[in-house]
Amino acid sequence: NKKHKVTVVGSGNWGSTIAKVVAENTASHPDLFEKEVQMWVFEEQVEGRNLTELINEKHENQKYLPGIPLPKHVIANPSIEDAVKGSTILVFNLPHQFIIAQCRQIKGHIEPYARGISCIKGVNVGDGKISLFSETIGRELGIYCGALSGANIANEVAQEKWCETTIAYDPPPVDSQAPTPAKTPPNGTPASSQLDLTKLDQHKDVSGLPSKVKLKPLPAEFHPIDHVTIKTLFHRPYFHARVVSDVAGVSLGGALKNIVALAAGWVDGLGWGDNAKAAIMRVGLLEMVDFGKRFFGKTIQTKTFTEESAGVADLITTCSGGRNHRCAKMSVVEGKSIAEIEERELNGQKLQGVSTAEEVNNFLKSQGLEKEFPLFTAVSQILKGEAKYEDIPKLIESETSDA
Ligand code: NAD
Ligand code: 13P
Repeated sequence: NKKHKVTVVGSGNWGSTIAKVVAENTASHPDLFEKEVQMWVFEEQVEGRNLTELINEKHENQKYLPGIPLPKHVIANPSIEDAVKGSTILVFNLPHQFIIAQCRQIKGHIEPYARGISCIKGVNVGDGKISLFSETIGRELGIYCGALSGANIANEVAQEKWCETTIAYDPPPVDSQAPTPAKTPPNGTPASSQLDLTKLDQHKDVSGLPSKVKLKPLPAEFHPIDHVTIKTLFHRPYFHARVVSDVAGVSLGGALKNIVALAAGWVDGLGWGDNAKAAIMRVGLLEMVDFGKRFFGKTIQTKTFTEESAGVADLITTCSGGRNHRCAKMSVVEGKSIAEIEERELNGQKLQGVSTAEEVNNFLKSQGLEKEFPLFTAVSQILKGEAKYEDIPKLIESETSDA
């Protein structure tokens, strides 16, 4: 069988960490993968030199993942078109605001039968519509894209401290042009274990997603890209991957918890203690589940939020050790904007919570549903200066009481 070539599109804090993880596995599975892993780097000057040159010389990303040796066969490449050339597996790992532009740049330069995994935490909102970045990537490039998300603070994973992650991968069948009808189990709810073409269509009916993806089959000389191959690429002794089929649940867990993390950071900044933070997380989890069921109900499984690393576990870790939480907390303590703190503290790393809160709020507003998601709405109001941190208990009260 022909080996899979793997490219990581992105090289920030998480992008570099995932490149390390993946490269360790390409080296240990020469039967399945080419050893070399291409990593696209958004070129910039660090200490007067190109970051790509520094990475390839020192085998370390000194700016975004300092102190962590990268395998020598991670090759930093400033040309995204060149980095993706000939790859059968594309791992997308960028702050969400940059992904669409990069997809447009590589369109026509990728193998048409490539498969993707999105490690991006965010949602794509526009014109009153919402989509997962896995779907956006799929639509932009005409490929199938799954999602990886979990309780995965990059620096901890990079230091090989044990954790779990969830990968959702469920491509539609490629052998027939006609979509397979969705199976409906006896209880009447549509089968949610398969994100097939029909379901993407149904999803379109729910939230206005574009027309269905026509998948190009992987040439027969390649080993199939199935759950086993995907797990082999990501699973490490310190990074335990569970592979599931609920792409919407995995993606939304990663995106929406960043909104909750801001509120958790604010109440921590106010010095309200762990009980208050637990209340925020409880309400946040309920809104995450409700959001998933309302807008991705044809494919989502509630248990992804309650049982997988990509759900509740990520919510917990993010509200303790994440950047969104830390910057939100500092903004209260210092009386400064989150943007100011981000600029000062993160050395070019990007928060996803503020833009996700705004994007989700725009979407909820377009649906007339702001009141149904009081915590998400409160976070947006506070970011816009329309409410105060201290108002949070009052703003989410309807959801915290039976009355
Ligand atoms: P990051 O926060 O380190 O962001 C910096 C990256 O953005 C750098 O690679 C930089 O080159 C790039 N960049 C800056 N301007 C750009 C531009 N104009 N165009 C393209 N790229 C540009 O990024 P990250 O931590 O790797 O995050 C990527 C995704 O992974 C995010 O969605 C994040 O939520 C998610 N994630 C992060 C972590 C973590 O702990 N860092 C963990 C899990 C998931
Ligand atoms: P932050 O982006 O808030 O650091 O969260 C990291 C993360 O997603 C951990 O799983």
